[in-house]
Amino acid sequence: MRKIAFILNPISGRGEKKEILECINGMLVKYPDCDALFYTTKGVGDATVAARNFAAEGYDTVVAIGGDGTVNEVAKGLVGTACRLAIIPVGSGNGLARHLGIPMGCTEAVYTVFEGKPQSIDAGKINDEYFFCTAGVGFDAVVGERFNSSSTRGLVSYMEHCAKEYVKYEPEEYEIDLLGVKFRQKAFLITFANSSQWGNNVFIAPDANISDGMMDVVIWRSSPMVTMPLITAELFLRKIKYSEFVDTYRCKEVVVRRKGKGVIQFDGESMEMGEEIRVSVQHNVLEVLVPEQSKNFFQLLETMPQQLREMLPQQFWDLLGEQLKELSPQQLRERVPQQLKGRVPQQLKEHLKDIETKFKDMVK
Ligand SMILES: [Mg+2]
Repeated sequence: MRKIAFILNPISGRGEKKEILECINGMLVKYPDCDALFYTTKGVGDATVAARNFAAEGYDTVVAIGGDGTVNEVAKGLVGTACRLAIIPVGSGNGLARHLGIPMGCTEAVYTVFEGKPQSIDAGKINDEYFFCTAGVGFDAVVGERFNSSSTRGLVSYMEHCAKEYVKYEPEEYEIDLLGVKFRQKAFLITFANSSQWGNNVFIAPDANISDGMMDVVIWRSSPMVTMPLITAELFLRKIKYSEFVDTYRCKEVVVRRKGKGVIQFDGESMEMGEEIRVSVQHNVLEVLVPEQSKNFFQLLETMPQQLREMLPQQFWDLLGEQLKELSPQQLRERVPQQLKGRVPQQLKEHLKDIETKFKDMVK
């Protein structure tokens, strides 16, 4: 019998909590032998203690219903336990959920809690704080602090804070010690990336692998204001690694020293730290439930030649949606709604094997 604990942050991000609870109740009707418990957080740090206790009580899954901050709190309570993390993303950035392909739609995310498969992931540590997405110093940490202490939420508000801080921000000089080399570098920001994005599909480390035991260290040097639109585009298009203002390193550990204490960000939360910052990776210390095959499935469909798509049985398109049959790979990529990406796989598993075989034959 499964034991699942749901930890809900009542004040995070978007407001569809009632819908989520309805979805969960719907699934519990289908899984009558599942023992479920709901817990609502009351303050900072609450979710970590609760998650750790649930793990000790033998729960097999603890579900974080919230944004990256809530996910961070729940995840660090589960590090090193046999209990799995699941995520129902309702925050403003949802970086970890997006990296792992967890659907943004409520029904599909809830489905993943019950039907997902476990994936082992690494955890980053910045001094004594765990992070699972990214941590960093510099501009993003400063903006994060302003954003977190303001009363508004969402991407637009975040961008407003970015613009306001950018005009007065002075890049700091850091002493950086990585891969046995020590060097000084003036930087706009330095991000330590366990996952590929800050959130909202802003890819600061597009090649970061969350399970390789390494972190990507992204050093964004001073860049003239006139290059900001280009760099912003590169962040969204997973092309920041090609920017002449950005250096990316991959390592297990890095030490950064700055002139004095200051703010850092970890998974979008901000805090003060001293001048020496040690960042490291702990390999495969947590299991997260992710949708089974959904990503591969659509990647496969998107890359499939038109002639092969025409060979797929009508039954396949009946299940998937007739209108998708006519779309080009590019259109598929743009138009297939996220919620469908999460829902399809379980219905189409049999066809998938068939398609894979045909596809492999064809590209041979
Ligand atoms: Mg990695």
